Amino acid sequence: MAEKLHPNIDKGLPKKSAKFAGGTLLCACVSNPVKVEIKGQVAHNHACGCTKCWKPAGALFSVVAVVPTENVKVASGKSKLKVVDKKALIQRQACRACGVHMYGPVEREHPFQGLSFIHPERFEESGWAPPGFAAFVSSIIEAGVDPGKMKGIRNRLKKAGLEPYDCLNPPLMDFIATWTAKKSGALAA
Ligand SMILES: [Zn+2]
Ligand SMILES: [Zn+2]
Repeated sequence: MAEKLHPNIDKGLPKKSAKFAGGTLLCACVSNPVKVEIKGQVAHNHACGCTKCWKPAGALFSVVAVVPTENVKVASGKSKLKVVDKKALIQRQACRACGVHMYGPVEREHPFQGLSFIHPERFEESGWAPPGFAAFVSSIIEAGVDPGKMKGIRNRLKKAGLEPYDCLNPPLMDFIATWTAKKSGALAA
């Protein structure tokens, strides 16, 4: 049986709607779910193979996007949230009961400061922008995937329309390097 990449990839990518203006993210708890309200469309949605992102059961990749942190509001269940790793760049806020990561703000000085990482599949609403590439693909080996399967997995990602990268995609890598160069003075700010 083929590995499960992610339900939103294996079933075909979801469709973006021009009407989507945000919505409510729900955790997986049947009673008293955590609810997080998001304003606006998501950006840079992608599949991620790192070992830190929350993934649905059996999936090798997460689907994760960013929104401005100022557009994120915990509407209910705030007391159920805890930060997974306080030392991490992304302060992933997980539900203690079901484990779903609800949002992860970047608070320290970094090119991604002011952005929050979210998992759009947790939206009650459809119409969010689908993933556009796959990041940190080689990292799934760290989670135990046989390196011999990587060629096949990369081919499946490409077929799904998700170019596989072993870090972030070139636009985001360039964005980070530009921020670093302006900070060091190598580029004019
Ligand atoms: Zn929960
Ligand atoms: Zn990740």
